Amino acid sequence: MNKISQKQGLKKSQEKNILISACLLGNPVRYNGTDLLIAHPLLAKWKKQGRLVSICPEVAGGMPTPRAPAEITSQKGGTVTDCNQNDVSEAFLLGAKATLKLAIDNNCAVAIMTESSPSCGSNTIYDGSFTNTKVEGLGITTALLEQNGVRVFNQFQIDEVDVFLLGD
Ligand code: SF4
Repeated sequence: MNKISQKQGLKKSQEKNILISACLLGNPVRYNGTDLLIAHPLLAKWKKQGRLVSICPEVAGGMPTPRAPAEITSQKGGTVTDCNQNDVSEAFLLGAKATLKLAIDNNCAVAIMTESSPSCGSNTIYDGSFTNTKVEGLGITTALLEQNGVRVFNQFQIDEVDVFLLGD
C-alpha cells in the first residue's frame, strides 16, 4: 500500500478527534450482522464531546452485511480472501482508503479499532487458514492508518488512548 503524501498528513495541533470501528459503537455491521458494542466511561465522555468519528471499513469498501468471513491470506501482499476462496482484496483496500480519508478530514490522530479483524486488527489477525488461528499482524485498514501517522489502539486499550491524547 502506498503511503499518502505528507501534504495530506495530520498536523500535530489538529490531533483531537478519535476514529472508532463502527461495530464497537453498536452498529450491526460485522460479517455475521452483529455488533461488538463496548461500554466505557471515556467513550461516553468522548461521544458527548462529539469527538468520535466512526466507520466500518468493509462496508465503506462496498461489502454487504452480512458477508462471508474473510482473512488475510498474504500479509506481505495485502491479499484478503473470503471463506469461499473469493479474492476480496480490492474492497478491503477501498475501505482502508476511505477510512484514512475520513480520519484526515476529521483530524483524527488516534483510532480505536476492533482487534483481530482483517480490516481493523492492530495486534492480531487470523492466519488465513480459516481454522480460528490468530497470529501477530495488522488489518488492512490499520496498516494504512499507521503508515500515515494515525496511532491505532484496540477496544481493550481505551485507557491507553486517554494517556496518548493527554500527551498529545
Ligand atoms: Fe467492525 Fe472493522 Fe469489521 Fe467493520 S471491518 S465490522 S468496523 S471490525
